[in-house]
Amino acid sequence: MDEPLVTRMQEFGETIFAEMSALAVRTGAINLGQGFPDQHGPRAMLDVAVEAIRSGEVQYPPGPGLPELREAVAAQRLERYGLSYDPATEVFVTVGATEGVAASMLALAGPGDEVIVFEPYYDSYAATIALAGAVRRPVTLRPDGGRFTFDPDELRAAVGPRTRLILVNSPHNPAGTVFTRAELEAIAGVCREHDLVAVTDEVYEYLTFDGTEHIPLATLDGMRERTVAVSSAGKTFSVTGWKTGWITAPAPYIRAVQTVKQFLTYAVSAPYQRAAAYALGNETAWVEGLRTSLQAKRDRLVTGLEAAGFVAYRPQGTYFVQADIRPLGFGDGMDLARALPERAGVVAIPTQVFYDHAKAGAHFLRFAFCKRDEVIDAAVERLARLG
Ligand SMILES: *Cc1c(COP(=O)(O)O)cnc(C)c1O
Repeated sequence: MDEPLVTRMQEFGETIFAEMSALAVRTGAINLGQGFPDQHGPRAMLDVAVEAIRSGEVQYPPGPGLPELREAVAAQRLERYGLSYDPATEVFVTVGATEGVAASMLALAGPGDEVIVFEPYYDSYAATIALAGAVRRPVTLRPDGGRFTFDPDELRAAVGPRTRLILVNSPHNPAGTVFTRAELEAIAGVCREHDLVAVTDEVYEYLTFDGTEHIPLATLDGMRERTVAVSSAGKTFSVTGWKTGWITAPAPYIRAVQTVKQFLTYAVSAPYQRAAAYALGNETAWVEGLRTSLQAKRDRLVTGLEAAGFVAYRPQGTYFVQADIRPLGFGDGMDLARALPERAGVVAIPTQVFYDHAKAGAHFLRFAFCKRDEVIDAAVERLARLG
């Protein structure tokens, strides 16, 4: 039979997460591959969702989202970042950040348009750029002084006459970098000079460590008017299965994204919107507890990886640590990731799958630390036998 999949999607086969999670199940290995927490969100937030279901909230909610959630998002952006958005026209609810990014790409980048993206990139980015028929232009993040960053000259060189968008994820998955004001200034400068629109993925906005501040790109000079900011309840409140996200942007961009989104999913599950609205307004103390606990888990995993012989990059945010495998005598992360469940009983993700220039990430593995302490301890104990 001929390949039924359209050409532009043929480079996207089974995701690495499916392959590695299947391997974890088959071998009984500890799964530090996929980034989902093994503890769940604040009890009162879960109760709001349950109550919404019981009280009969079971039909289509408004396409742009429940007014309650849009108001809660506007209040959060204002209180936390000083950014003012009209909940009626400048806030829009999506099926997770994933749909927020996908609908933005489909709405704002057409066939042949170019989208700048920092590699290693979140795996859905490349696929949604391809779905739009657009072309990705990667700018590589490289280790420098203990963290991953980019060369501003490389960023400037990536801009061409067809460049429309730049996709900015900070705090960054999988590199763990939280862009500094200087890095964001370099990005903003390119956007202003070339009249580019920025789509920002801020799903880890609360999950930064050691006092590192998350700065939304929209707060920089001239950027609010050209930024589509995407976030979600999944990471902030440890409910990755709820797929409840939102966009804040000037009204014309919201209308553009809405035009696409209404035909993808039309609306977002109402009970989860109620619960997310409640949590944004009432659970910041719980999130601070999560942040503190994740920082300790990060240190636990980094210490364990170092003891096992890896060079670990201590992330400034997110769920993930990058580990350089070369000190242990390995060269290729893909080979090691495939062997690791049998050899050490642990699953990790080869970072090279998140690059176009796979060589730049060939020797890194990504380990998730959003797991119970016992799970992290058991994993590092097993990894210690690798050396
Ligand atoms: C987890 C994650 C997402 C997905 O968020 P959802 O709200 O679950 O769709 C998007 N971007 C990044 C960088 C992520 O790590």
